[in-house]
Amino acid sequence: MSPFAIIALVLILARATAELWLSRLNQRHVRAHANEVPDAFRGIIDEATYRRSIDYTLGKSCFGDIANVFDVVLLIAVLFSGVLPWAFERFTKNFGTSMVAMAGFLFVTAIALSIPALPFAWYAQFKLEERFDFNTTSMKTWILDRMKGFLLTVLLGYPLLALVLKLIEWTGANWWLWAAAVVVAFQLLLLLIAPAVIMPLFNRFTPLPEGTLRERLFALAQRTDFPTRSIEMMDGSKRSRHSNAFFAGFGHFRKIVLFDTLIAQLTEPELESVLAHEIGHYKKRHVMKLLGVSIAGVFVTFAAIAWLARQQWFYRAFGFEHQGGFAAANVVPAMLLSALLARTISFWLSPLIHIWSRRLEYDADAFARTTMGEAQSLIQALRKLSEKNLSNLTPHPLYGGVYYSHPTLLERERALRTTA
Ligand SMILES: [Zn+2]
Repeated sequence: MSPFAIIALVLILARATAELWLSRLNQRHVRAHANEVPDAFRGIIDEATYRRSIDYTLGKSCFGDIANVFDVVLLIAVLFSGVLPWAFERFTKNFGTSMVAMAGFLFVTAIALSIPALPFAWYAQFKLEERFDFNTTSMKTWILDRMKGFLLTVLLGYPLLALVLKLIEWTGANWWLWAAAVVVAFQLLLLLIAPAVIMPLFNRFTPLPEGTLRERLFALAQRTDFPTRSIEMMDGSKRSRHSNAFFAGFGHFRKIVLFDTLIAQLTEPELESVLAHEIGHYKKRHVMKLLGVSIAGVFVTFAAIAWLARQQWFYRAFGFEHQGGFAAANVVPAMLLSALLARTISFWLSPLIHIWSRRLEYDADAFARTTMGEAQSLIQALRKLSEKNLSNLTPHPLYGGVYYSHPTLLERERALRTTA
């Protein structure tokens, strides 16, 4: 093994060990609080529900550990067995190195590598979620979802990939700038058209029926100067009893979407406060900031790929021949390897991203409180959501620090009360 291959292996194992250790730490913490409802939650959650939330948390966590170990073993096998350079050579021998062939190679490899994850996804949906009565997905829906996802990737992903590879030949040394710009433009276009073209393929959207809820929510949108054309209800119950709300699209195309499950669980003032929180993300420019960060991320990723594609040691470490130059065939191995190693690097960044994301959540909560003129509706909504979704009420602080994009229920309640 080359020195860099050893470094890569150590990095992969370090990430996996850190994840498993954090998961164990959290499981121990949850078990330590399992015997009785902690004081802070008395009167908020009953004994039976609390128990179920513990079981659900531990069930998901143990399953996650197994899936994680499987992933790491598979990743190491794929990276260091020589199967990738072997497949690449076979592929180029049979189909050449045109951009269509090279995009095909990346595509076929990505599909082949995603197959082992299918049984895990199936188990999570039909065993784990089912056991806690969350699953409402039928086998037919599950299979159709995957087929639709596959077709969309073929129709949208494959041409984009081919274009990016073509850009390498067209633009030479600065190809990564062009490629990142094209990918960003594509993502923005997708954000724009998804509500009209893609989301309806998976769910049914119906305008919120006339009535007090609709009036209340439109009044809120007007009061907060949040122009929206429509508020729609999505049949989230088609797949799961978990609940959610979001808005989709930009400007004129924007619509607010509430899961039918959310509407069933919350009262009107609670729903209004949840929507006020979501509007807070928009009004405080969080949506724009997140988009900015994700765009920067695309450019950094392509810069890294372009740099790695010029490093002989990087190719050698994983058994690829390094030819250099600006042809698709010379960059494709760097793309493939970067995709496989992405999580190994991004894991160490996730605490930073989540610290930031939790700050935005506090901000949106504060906005909701100001808009509503009271904090109780949002607190009540958060409690219910936490209960209905069997959220982990007692995460280990370090685990939460690394993984949680939202503050815990207690932290949010405390902030909502103290800043009042
Ligand atoms: Zn939020």
